Amino acid sequence: MTQGDVRRSSKVLVAEYISSVGEGNKFTKLELYKAVPDFSQVDRRMRDLRECGWVIDNYKVNPSLKPDEYLVQKLGVRIDLGERPISSGRRTIGGAKRRRIFERDGNLCSICGVSAGGSYPDAPDRRAVLTIGHIHAVAHGGLDDDSNLRAECQRCNDEARDNTTPPLSYENVLSHARNIGSKKEKARLLSWMIAQRRTPDDVERVFLEWRQLPRDQRERLMAAFSTQVLGSVEG
Ligand SMILES: [Zn+2]
Repeated sequence: MTQGDVRRSSKVLVAEYISSVGEGNKFTKLELYKAVPDFSQVDRRMRDLRECGWVIDNYKVNPSLKPDEYLVQKLGVRIDLGERPISSGRRTIGGAKRRRIFERDGNLCSICGVSAGGSYPDAPDRRAVLTIGHIHAVAHGGLDDDSNLRAECQRCNDEARDNTTPPLSYENVLSHARNIGSKKEKARLLSWMIAQRRTPDDVERVFLEWRQLPRDQRERLMAAFSTQVLGSVEG
């Protein structure tokens, strides 16, 4: 590959299309699919672009958009013109640093608490793969310092990268924390803050045990348990 020769990968095609739409303009998912033949890769490629500083709003961050609409806020590194990303987190974090972060975080996802190779309470067949994530996103100026890095499972990392909402303020988060219902729930949140991660609790553990029972036993158990729960609510 010679200098300036831009390989027209699906990532480059997505960048080409979005830059042709231009900053301040909208496009729909269908229009993007038409422009990129290999559309199975489109969501991943948009995440890649966000890592390269492209700001593309979806309906989750911009309520004025319809679910299939996107708004181009800012073009980032022009990979469609052969520009190269300077730093894009994951790929530039070396082995020794990765191991140090994984070890510091106890080889658990800092967001959902799943262990490396462990299964998810809601998807027991899926094995967690740990990666390194940025607490303050690279697109928002986050650095590759240890204090800005944490172990994340691939699933949480994908969700976090999809979410381009800027971080909330101290006051917002404190008021959310104070508004959590019961004292018991507040104590649970505080224990997560102290542990710096979401630690599995009794509820999740028992739910996982319940999920593994045969179906008829799950239903029987649920019925027996519901009498106790509903009884205690009424009483
Ligand atoms: Zn996770």
